Amino acid sequence: MPIRPVLLSPRSQKLIATLILFFATLASSAFAQQATLDAGPQDPQIAAALKQISSARVQATIEKLVSFQNRSTLSAQDPDSIAAGHGVGAARDWIKSQFEAYSKDCGGCLEVKTDSFTENPAERIPKPTVITNVYAVLKGTDPDRAKRIVLVTGHYDSRNSDNFNITDAAPGANDDGSGTAVSLECARVLSKLKLPGTIIFLTVAGEEQGLNGSRHFAQMAKSESWELEAVLNNDIVGGDRSPEQDTKVVRVFSEGVPIASTDQDLRLIRNLGGESDSASREVARYIAEVGRTYDGPVQPMLVFRLDRYLRGGDHSSFNQSGFAAVRFTEFREDYHHQHQNVRTENGIEYGDLPKFVNFDYLAGVARLNAASLASLAAAPAPPSKVHLLTKELTNDSTLTWEASPGATGYEVLWRATTSSEWEHAQAAGNETRITLPKSKDNVIFAVRSLDAAGHRSLPVVPVPER
Ligand SMILES: [Zn+2]
Repeated sequence: MPIRPVLLSPRSQKLIATLILFFATLASSAFAQQATLDAGPQDPQIAAALKQISSARVQATIEKLVSFQNRSTLSAQDPDSIAAGHGVGAARDWIKSQFEAYSKDCGGCLEVKTDSFTENPAERIPKPTVITNVYAVLKGTDPDRAKRIVLVTGHYDSRNSDNFNITDAAPGANDDGSGTAVSLECARVLSKLKLPGTIIFLTVAGEEQGLNGSRHFAQMAKSESWELEAVLNNDIVGGDRSPEQDTKVVRVFSEGVPIASTDQDLRLIRNLGGESDSASREVARYIAEVGRTYDGPVQPMLVFRLDRYLRGGDHSSFNQSGFAAVRFTEFREDYHHQHQNVRTENGIEYGDLPKFVNFDYLAGVARLNAASLASLAAAPAPPSKVHLLTKELTNDSTLTWEASPGATGYEVLWRATTSSEWEHAQAAGNETRITLPKSKDNVIFAVRSLDAAGHRSLPVVPVPER
């Protein structure tokens, strides 16, 4: 179709020129503020496993957990109650049987274990109480790399309005049947993979009593010197069906200044602006990158604080023991459906029932967890002893590190000190030293390992070396 010439008045021409300038500025500033790196390549094996995640399976898990009536840590765990399918003991045994069934399906690839201990009386524990964590270990296939562990957890205990009520229903469909379902579903689909690093699928009890189960487990990991690189805690990830819910995102909370910092750590953090570079925060950024790589229906929304106001969770037990750990929680919680006796009052339905859970959303959260766990377990170890040389006053920056088993190359990342996520990457080949014409005073650097297939390790922020 021929184009008819249009005559414009000088005023219109000026207006159009202004508009062009406006949009050009917008585009260039958007480019300058590009907040994120390119997504990494998908691993076809991981992508295929993610397709197995099923909203019907997570729904069945939650409905089964709710059938135990009350999963308070203080509830029954005697043989008769277990046989009758009531109480926390029955829930514990059922979870164990699920892990065992998944293991059977993969030729015994999972080691199914319990971590059981007696907690002494405390504010929310009236008498000595046995608490049992149930977990499955998918051991890494590479003997050198199998000692590196990533872990996913949720709590299988529940409560209603009264923390001491062990008789009325405490369905705990969302809090935290949803997180338990994520651990189980990740175990089911990832147990079919062969990954060089180890993954642990954990479910804990005692959360509502004061994080007792996770504290015990984290302290065991610390006392046994586990190389636990990342902990993903899922607590209230069911996407409660309230009208204001955003089903496209899940919040990922991470601590800033680590609770386990020594005085020396704190001095460095204060002097160098390290407040937003805890190991937990690097895990959160890693999850954001995995979200872009595997492009699922539920994307992470990073929240740079330990947890929500007035609330706590099992990730903080791991933080206390010095491990990197983050918390996943749905975008908007409905407090009528948490820690409430099941009832209707003034037309409002209270109680944590399966009908308020969005199982497609929960499957999306499980998918993001599984992608993150598998990516970390597939990746080479992060570089060790990452140093930034600060002997001389110079506007260049020199970084050094030690080679990682399984790595075929390294990348230096950096971002503006005011930016939330890594912005730039520079390949360093398989060298373990690089000098960049960029002032260390103006950016935050990190180094990560890569392998031939493009798997990326967690990035490591350097310590200054004089
Ligand atoms: Zn919870």
